[in-house]
Amino acid sequence: MTTYKICLLAGDGIGPEIIAEGVKVLDAVGAKYQVSFEYTEALIGGCAIDATGSPLPPQTLEVAKASDAVLLAAVGGPKWDTTDSTKPRPEQGLLGIRKELGLYTNLRPVQIFNALAGASTLKPEVIDGVDLVIVRELTGGLYFGARQRFYDEPGAGTNGAKGQRAVDTLEYREYEVERIARQAFEAARTRRGRVHSIDKANVLDTSRMWREVVHRVHDQEYADVELIDMLVDNTAMQLINAPKQFDVVVTENMFGDILSDEAAQITGSLGMLASASLGDGVSLYEPSHGSAPDIAGKGIANPIAQILSAGMMLQYSFGMTEAAADITRAITQVLDEGWRTGDIKDSTTPADKVVGTVQMGDLVVSRL
Ligand code: NAD
Repeated sequence: MTTYKICLLAGDGIGPEIIAEGVKVLDAVGAKYQVSFEYTEALIGGCAIDATGSPLPPQTLEVAKASDAVLLAAVGGPKWDTTDSTKPRPEQGLLGIRKELGLYTNLRPVQIFNALAGASTLKPEVIDGVDLVIVRELTGGLYFGARQRFYDEPGAGTNGAKGQRAVDTLEYREYEVERIARQAFEAARTRRGRVHSIDKANVLDTSRMWREVVHRVHDQEYADVELIDMLVDNTAMQLINAPKQFDVVVTENMFGDILSDEAAQITGSLGMLASASLGDGVSLYEPSHGSAPDIAGKGIANPIAQILSAGMMLQYSFGMTEAAADITRAITQVLDEGWRTGDIKDSTTPADKVVGTVQMGDLVVSRL
């Protein structure tokens, strides 16, 4: 029997409650597919600060690096909020582990569960059946290029007064584009086989290089995948206007940051959105939402984003595409039957169909 080692990082707030449901579902999948999962828990975020003084203790990194994949819940909370830059912050744990694991790709699937179509601000006929994934480059571009402020530039302010100037550098290297393009084409092969590559090639040189490199990787290695170029401004419109046309959307760091938040809003349900951060080694899977301190410990958090993150782990780290699809089918069935956690219920949901975190996990397991 194949055994996969999984590092579990529950973190803070609702983290421990929802990750337990992710593990429950993984174990059910393991039993069905004759695979076993071996879990090692480690500390990250606020709980790690409390226990060790650091949001990312060295032992956590060791466990993560020795695992086949990392399943994370969420970090942070008011207890550790501080404006004192000398104090450790939970988010440093997240940024630190992404850097240490060399995670250069962020994958955010946007999938409409038809039972929840009413939660979106878009019309049901526009979003019915939407199933896309944004593949965002995470370590290059404008957010990591050289930046500088020049103070007191003569004549640069209003009325010829002294002013200031600021510069951010948008830089990409060929290898960075090649590797993200491969991640996108690989993802497309496990899905519907279509990639939209998003750029601003009518203006930016980085985009022109992006386009050239993406096409070269496509023609040489992934000619079986459909490749479509789209300008970023048009993409922003198309995502709202006709989101069903997209399967895999690949783009650079800043465009991806903006488009992935836009795409996430198509669903209207934060508790349903999973994400994956991939590199060339161990990958990390987590819900898109935070630690929801306002509902922590109440047993009412929605575990579905966490469970879908576990599904992404099966698909992308272990190649268990059918098992991942099983999880999505089970969740679809539970929602179609009318079961809801508090965050996704609406005025038509009967009180006896509103369930807590553990019951939602149990329902998904039983439908698996
Ligand atoms: P949040 O995502 O934690 O919560 C926003 C709202 O959504 C809250 O009302 C919350 O109750 C609700 N919500 C979120 N997830 C839910 C779920 N699974 N089920 C039901 N309701 C859910 O965002 P926030 O309130 O801005 O941040 C809270 C803390 O989380 C902060 O400390 C922040 O820094 C941290 N945070 C962490 C991550 C991460 O770990 N990746 C991401 C975002 C925010």
